[in-house]
Amino acid sequence: MTYRASSERYQSMKYNRCGNSGLLLPAISLGLWHNFGGVDSFENGRAMLRRAFDLGITHFDLANNYGPPPGSAEAMFGQVLKTDFAPYRDELIISSKAGYHMWDGPYGEWGSKKYLIASLDQSLKRMGLDYVDIFYSHRPDPNTPLEETMGALDQIVRQGKALYVGISSYTAEQTEEAVKILNRLGTPLLIHQPSYSMLNRWIENGLQDVLQENRIGSIAFCPLEQGLLTSKYLSGVPADSRAAKSTGALNEDRVTEEMVHKIKQLNDVAADRGQNLAQMALSWVLREGRVTSALIGASRVSQIEENVAALNHLEFTSDELDRIEDILAD
Ligand code: NDP
Repeated sequence: MTYRASSERYQSMKYNRCGNSGLLLPAISLGLWHNFGGVDSFENGRAMLRRAFDLGITHFDLANNYGPPPGSAEAMFGQVLKTDFAPYRDELIISSKAGYHMWDGPYGEWGSKKYLIASLDQSLKRMGLDYVDIFYSHRPDPNTPLEETMGALDQIVRQGKALYVGISSYTAEQTEEAVKILNRLGTPLLIHQPSYSMLNRWIENGLQDVLQENRIGSIAFCPLEQGLLTSKYLSGVPADSRAAKSTGALNEDRVTEEMVHKIKQLNDVAADRGQNLAQMALSWVLREGRVTSALIGASRVSQIEENVAALNHLEFTSDELDRIEDILAD
């Protein structure tokens, strides 16, 4: 059936400014790492993309290697762009990345100019796009000079193949260095994409300060810790969960007794706030406005609906925050 976006799509989503740029990002963005690949149901993926956009999620995050097989999530997204989203291209922020292994030989991963430029050209072809809105260096490369990797990002913008650039999983020190180089080149860093959740707080140890000082945006990936920070694993590992799937990156070994004990206590705090655990985990990542957007994944439409409803209750009392700290410290 022909898709027409909901006329109410901008009524409830919250949009946050990304650093000191002109760009606003939705407080919740959707990533296509899992559940949009060639091994997954196309129609389920399409339904999730449609529902997300209808709820005001304007930002979709991809990478060259998302699938499996690698590249298939971009191809899937390209198909939906063609059939459903074409009239809305200018309402969308589409990102892609290169950094992890994509093709064999010495030029198929890491951070050389050779790899980044070739990979983005492939991504654009798969998605049927002339440009992406944000292009990322997916991970720091210890063996390529940062000047070269940042120079490639600058070149990509000058060629019109991306509007903005970002980096992912760079440390605080690497980020400071990247900011300096990009400022010198005249293509300022728009955004950093780090992992961040109640169970993974490394960015609080320096990186957030660097981003704040330089007024750079951030988008937190795996805010639900791949599903651990939801009610999903409270009583075992469901057969259709990421931890149970052979193509899922969440190792079942992480669902330990101690983890479940922690999750149960967090679940109680969420219930007392009138949220479910997934919603509280997202509100927590977005607390105090230090993160521009929480980058979720989903395996079904209902999860996207539930997660967007987190925005109805973003505030925490100091008592709630203390309870959460106590549980996490345990
Ligand atoms: P999340 O932490 O949000 O985990 C998503 C998973 O949690 C879903 O697939 C689903 O798992 C479960 N889930 C989501 N909502 C609910 C809910 N309401 N109730 C119960 N379960 C729920 O994020 P992801 O790990 O998927 O990562 C998000 C995005 O971040 C990726 O798509 C990608 O764009 C980006 N990313 C970037 C990386 C980088 O290096 N830059 C690395 C990793 C991710 P289930 O399938 O079990 O239902």
